[in-house]
Amino acid sequence: MTAPAVTARPMPQARRRLLGALIVLAGLAFLVLAASLAFLEEEGHEAGHGDPPVVLAGLVCALLAAALILMQYLLSGRLRLLDRVFGLPGLLQAHRVVAVSAAVLASCHPLLVFFPPDETIGPLRLEIWPALLGMILLASLWSTVAAGLWRGFLGLPFPRWWLLHRLGTFSLVVLAALHASFVIETFQSGLPRLGLWAILAAYGSWQIWSKLVKPARLAKAPYRVGAVRALAPDIHEVTLARADGAPVLTYAPGQFAFVRFKSAAVSSEEHHFTLSSSPARPESLSFTIKCSGDFTADIGRLAPGDTAVIDGPYGLFSHLARTSDGQPLVLVAGGIGVTPFLSMLRYLADTGDTRPVTLVWSARSRCELILEEELQAIQARLPGCTLIRITSRESVPGWPAGRLDREALGRFLDGVDRGAACFVCGPGKMMDAATRELAALGFAKSRIHTERFAL
Ligand SMILES: Cc1cc2nc3c(=O)[nH]c(=O)nc-3n(C[C@H](O)[C@H](O)[C@H](O)COP(=O)(O)OP(=O)(O)OC[C@H]3O[C@@H](n4cnc5c(N)ncnc54)[C@H](O)[C@@H]3O)c2cc1C
Repeated sequence: MTAPAVTARPMPQARRRLLGALIVLAGLAFLVLAASLAFLEEEGHEAGHGDPPVVLAGLVCALLAAALILMQYLLSGRLRLLDRVFGLPGLLQAHRVVAVSAAVLASCHPLLVFFPPDETIGPLRLEIWPALLGMILLASLWSTVAAGLWRGFLGLPFPRWWLLHRLGTFSLVVLAALHASFVIETFQSGLPRLGLWAILAAYGSWQIWSKLVKPARLAKAPYRVGAVRALAPDIHEVTLARADGAPVLTYAPGQFAFVRFKSAAVSSEEHHFTLSSSPARPESLSFTIKCSGDFTADIGRLAPGDTAVIDGPYGLFSHLARTSDGQPLVLVAGGIGVTPFLSMLRYLADTGDTRPVTLVWSARSRCELILEEELQAIQARLPGCTLIRITSRESVPGWPAGRLDREALGRFLDGVDRGAACFVCGPGKMMDAATRELAALGFAKSRIHTERFAL
């Protein structure tokens, strides 16, 4: 018997595209509005005595940088609508690009404003504190951006970087508001002043909602750990159900959630994990977690009865979001990158979706290729399902060995419909190579979807 289809169907592609275009247009309109404030100031001057064009350009740069910084809160704020349209991982990529753009624009501001020979701030003294604040602001902006881009290179552990990032971005908003209020006449009265206050009020409300209201709401619907199963020496499956017996959150197969465990054995840091269970079974959900650092090393010590708070689901890495009914699927996984595909395969089996699906799963050794029995049972239930497992450092009788290069991928996907939707998840280099090879093998780039496990 097949289970009913999940109710949390992602937004149809056509609606997503339309909404995406509207949201981008709204963002552009906000930027134009912000830039136009520079011209308001010029109108305030007597005719013919406005700022020179180069100074105006400097002001435009500053206003655009400030607007982009504000937009960062929308990009990284886990807003449900934006996630459904663009997917959180895509938004976080945009967050990085916008951060660099804001820093470059902010750097152009002093260069242009002080370009005319008569525009100078003279020797350093207390009266020019708003301008000095601007310099501190620029330095903080670049430090925040650099720490985000080069966290690994700087050797900053994630939790420490995260704290610094939050403090850094908070100080940016405060410094920018002070700098704008005291250095530019535009913001000292009238509508611009009101606008600045409105933006600060929106920022304050956002902080209250995201730091207090939302966590409190999530905490009211806690989950309880039901079982912790070791699938390999360093891979555990954690199954959870709602503590009050209610159905778990609705999600599409392949989506992920943020999880914060409350356990004596595991740190209370929030981490992302893919929901590896089938959404057609709403009584519980599971995460399949590989040890890759301090936090994940303790997952096996979770015990039934421990609780967790789950914020999700997020992302568009799901065949329900990216394919039409019956469209063939090619799933390419590296190591623990199989978790979204576990969810998709379990869901296909639960709902009796017999479309052609090929899973190519590469790992270093046999023990990383978990859940052999269950996958065989799924294959038996899905006539169109082909499972290929390949190991690079160990040879397993009956399974191919070696690297997942073009020759191997070409062999495994020989005869597979080139109109298939491809999903790739695994270590970064493996994903880049697989994406390249799939395109070279004739799969359309627009139908190759990826999910990275490092944001
Ligand atoms: C969308 C998504 C889905 C994922 N799904 C799975 C999954 O199903 N199974 C699985 O085993 N792993 C998954 N991961 C990876 C998992 O989140 C990391 O392996 C885990 O957070 C590492 O934590 P750590 O402290 O043990 O390791 P560390 O060695 O400390 O961290 C390794 C890397 O993980 C990231 N990271 C660390 N701490 C955090 C944090 N608090 N918040 C966010 N990122 C952090 C950083 O990029 C860091 O460089 C997923 C990641 C993403 C982004």
